[in-house]
Amino acid sequence: RSKELGKNQVQYYSHDFHSKMQKRIELENELKLAIDQDEFKLFYQPQVDAKTESLVGVEALIRWEHKQRGLLLPDDFIPLAEESHLIVDIGRWVINKACEQFSYWSKLPQAENVTFTIAVNLSAKQLKDNGLAKYLADCMAAYGLAGKYIELELTESSLEDSFEAIEMLHELSKTGVRLALDDFGMGYSSLSQLKKFPFEILKIDKYFVQDPGEIDSGLLAAICAFAHSLGYETVAEGIETQEQKEACKALNVDRLQGFLFAKPMPAEELKNNWLTH
Ligand code: C2E
Ligand code: MG
Ligand code: MG
Ligand code: MG
Repeated sequence: RSKELGKNQVQYYSHDFHSKMQKRIELENELKLAIDQDEFKLFYQPQVDAKTESLVGVEALIRWEHKQRGLLLPDDFIPLAEESHLIVDIGRWVINKACEQFSYWSKLPQAENVTFTIAVNLSAKQLKDNGLAKYLADCMAAYGLAGKYIELELTESSLEDSFEAIEMLHELSKTGVRLALDDFGMGYSSLSQLKKFPFEILKIDKYFVQDPGEIDSGLLAAICAFAHSLGYETVAEGIETQEQKEACKALNVDRLQGFLFAKPMPAEELKNNWLTH
């Protein structure tokens, strides 16, 4: 009986594995076509100044409008894009689109007195794209954007401490854009190594903001003190409640981002709700 069960399990497992592989191959093939078929879309999430709560930045977050599967989130396809190296082209598409959108916004009459930045997420794999800095500089020139308006976010846990990665980060920052370390506190990176990287902004991971436990609120305070004493600008992500907002304000976090202020939204919605007189 147990033998029979085991056999069934094996069959079940291998069937499951097979269909998973098939789905993956399917998705990868569709991913290859998605740029040409114009299926990617950027959503934008506001960041507000902690003191005034006015708009000071937006983060671009990719979505895939899949014909059969509906709106897919980055976690559904970015890992696959990274493994298949499609992330290089997708990442370039994101940079171009974000620059185009930002330049459009900044020319609107109602945006005249608003100054804000646009943040773009980069996968660590894109640091192996040798033409990336040139591509970025070309986009900025094409849309007439100064580097000070653009931030590039890299997650702490994906960063390699390799010579090439650090070189590329320096190359990128030479275009005038600013670099942000995303999901800070969740990676392994040793604090002593941090200064090797040209980051100016630390985005404190939502884990530290959301967990109200005693230990973690101590961690949040320690991270903020650390960041400020080393001269980093700080952004807290994942703010969902008033209490979380107040806690971050009390710790002098510079910028706040989270569902309490707004969820990521299409460009049109951001224009209508956040770029008004
Ligand atoms: P991230 O850069 O840390 O972005 C923040 C994520 O947290 C977003 O998820 C956002 O929707 C979500 N978030 C924002 N506020 C709140 C909140 O108050 N509560 C909660 N629970 N979540 C909140 P999203 O859009 O699913 O993106 C997930 C990750 O995918 C991003 O994390 C980023 O690492 C990656 N990603 C997004 N767009 C791109 C892209 O264009 N290229 C690359 N390489 N990665 C991207
Ligand atoms: Mg980010
Ligand atoms: Mg993050
Ligand atoms: Mg994240």
